[in-house]
Amino acid sequence: MGVKEIWENVLGELKTTISKANFLTWFKDTMLEEVKEDTAYIKVPSNFVKEWLEEKYHKNLIKILAKFIPEVKNIKYLVSNTGLKINKLKKNKKENIVFLKNEQMNLIDNIDPETNLNPRYTFETFVVGSNNELAHAAALAVTENLGKKYNPLFIYGGVGLGKTHLLQAIGNKLKDKRKFKIKYVPCEKFTEELVNSIRKQTVEDFRKNFRQLDLLLIDDVQFITGKDKTQEELFYTFNTLYEKNKQIVFTSDRPPKAIPSIEERLRSRFEGGMIADIGYPDFETRLAILKTKNQLNGDLVSEDILRYIANNVSKNVRELEGALNRIIAEIYLRKKEITLEEAKKLLSSILNKNNVYIPPQEVIKKVAAFYDLDEKLILSHSRKKELVKPRQVIMYLLREELRYSFTNIAEKLGHRDHTTVIYACEKISKEIEKNPIFSQEITLLKDLLYNK
Ligand code: ADP
Ligand code: MG
Repeated sequence: MGVKEIWENVLGELKTTISKANFLTWFKDTMLEEVKEDTAYIKVPSNFVKEWLEEKYHKNLIKILAKFIPEVKNIKYLVSNTGLKINKLKKNKKENIVFLKNEQMNLIDNIDPETNLNPRYTFETFVVGSNNELAHAAALAVTENLGKKYNPLFIYGGVGLGKTHLLQAIGNKLKDKRKFKIKYVPCEKFTEELVNSIRKQTVEDFRKNFRQLDLLLIDDVQFITGKDKTQEELFYTFNTLYEKNKQIVFTSDRPPKAIPSIEERLRSRFEGGMIADIGYPDFETRLAILKTKNQLNGDLVSEDILRYIANNVSKNVRELEGALNRIIAEIYLRKKEITLEEAKKLLSSILNKNNVYIPPQEVIKKVAAFYDLDEKLILSHSRKKELVKPRQVIMYLLREELRYSFTNIAEKLGHRDHTTVIYACEKISKEIEKNPIFSQEITLLKDLLYNK
C-alpha cells in the first residue's frame, strides 16, 4: 500500500468515530506525506488544524495508523500553507473562537527577513472592486511580464486603501515561484539604510544590495520629498535597474505631480511607466472585503453586522477591518455571538469620528508635512503664496473637522484677526467646490489626520 492509500484507509476508519462536521473541518485537506523510521509526517493546511489535531486526535491517529504501519509511534504535523484557508473554519464556531487567537498570532510577524515581505498580503486575499480594478490588473500584469510591460508601475491612493497590500502581493507571488531577488522597502527605511551606510562608510554595499535586485518594491515614496541625498540615490538605483530590465514598483499617497520638493528628473522617472490609482471602495466592494476577512477569521460575525459596518465606514479599508476586529474580539470575550444592536453600541466610538480628539497641533503638523513646509514658517505672518494657502487649509480643518470657533482659531494661530480666519475658511470651501484636484488634496489630508 502507498502512503495515499494508507491515509485513505486511516481516514475511512476515523470517519466512523467522529461527527461528519468535525471530520470535514479537521481532516478534509490533510495528507500523509511520508513515514520515516517510527514517525509519520502529516501535511495539514494551517496551524489552526495542526494544533487541533495535536490536542484532540493525536493518540487516536497513532493508534489507527499503527494498524497499517506497525512501526509508527509518533506523528509530526507539517503546515503546508501560510495563509488560512477560506471556508475551512466555518463549521464549528465555538472551536473557532478558542483557536482564532492562536491563528492570528501565527500570521503576525511572519515577515521574511530577506525580502521584507509579509505573507499575509497576497493576490488571493485582495478583493477586486471598481475602485482598484486598474491597479490590480496592472500589478498582476507586472508579475507576468517582469521588467517588460509596466516599468515602473506607480500606484497611488489614499490612506488604508490597499496600496501596501497590492505592492507586497506582487512580491509574494514571485517569491516562491522563481529565484528572483526581491526586496520590499518603505521609502523611509530606504532613507534610513542610506544614512546608516553613509555613517558606517558602507555605501558601496548599500548600492550593491539594491542594484542586484530583480524586483524592487518601494512603499510610500511621497516621503522622499525634500530629501536630496535619498532622491539622488534612488534616481541612480532606478536607472541601474531599469537599464537591466529589472522591475520597479512604487506606491504613494498622491500622484507624482503632487509630490512637493522632488527633483524633476525623478518625477519624470515616476511618470515614465504606468500610473494607476486606487479610489474609495463602493458598498459592494466594502461588503465583499468584510466577508472575506470574516471568513478568514472563522466566520463568526453575522451578515447584518457586516452590512452595518459596510454602510458606516466608507473611506478606509483599514477602518473596515478595525471595526470588524472589534466585533470579533468581543465575541472572543463573551464566547458567544452578538446581536446587531450590541454591535452598534460597540462600534459607536469607532465609527463616530467626531468623538475622536485630535489636538490642533496635530493638524498643523500634518498639513506642514503634507506640503513639506516648516511648521514655524506656516505659522509666521509671511504673505508668500506658498505659505498662505497651507495656513488657510489649517484654519479650514480646525474649523470644519475640530469645530473650533473662529476666534479660538485666530488665537491658536498666533493672534490673528478672526475675520482673517472667516475669510480663509470661505476661500478654501469655494476652492474645494471648483477645483477637484484641490478637493482630493483636502480629502487626503483629512484621511491623514484621522489615521495617525
Ligand atoms: P495603504 O497601504 O493604502 O495605506 P494597506 O495596503 O495597508 O493600505 O491596507 C490597509 C488594510 O486593508 C490592510 O490590512 C489590507 O490587507 C486591507 N485591504 C485594503 N484593500 C483591500 C482589498 N481590496 N481587499 C482586501 N483587503 C484589503
Ligand atoms: Mg501602506
